[in-house]
Amino acid sequence: MGRRGIKEYRAPEALALIAADRERTLLVCPSCGTRSIQRVPRRRSHGGAPLVSERVTLTCQTCGRHASYIERGGAEPPRDSTMDPHPLASRK
Ligand SMILES: [Zn+2]
Repeated sequence: MGRRGIKEYRAPEALALIAADRERTLLVCPSCGTRSIQRVPRRRSHGGAPLVSERVTLTCQTCGRHASYIERGGAEPPRDSTMDPHPLASRK
């Protein structure tokens, strides 16, 4: 409600697009079917994860819909700590 002017993918569409990006496959807009997805930031040429977690935004240049997710940094511990209020607390 109240999202006038902002076009977002429906949840299953966003998940499909994000999954494709994580798998480094060709990005095709799940809504309009074009390949005009603009990724910010651009993919790294070596295809690896960034050193630190960063927000990735995928925007379709044709229909204007967008989705975003957090790509986990390769230098960070492999934990699901994005919602952890104590990221530096003792790890056993
Ligand atoms: Zn589109």
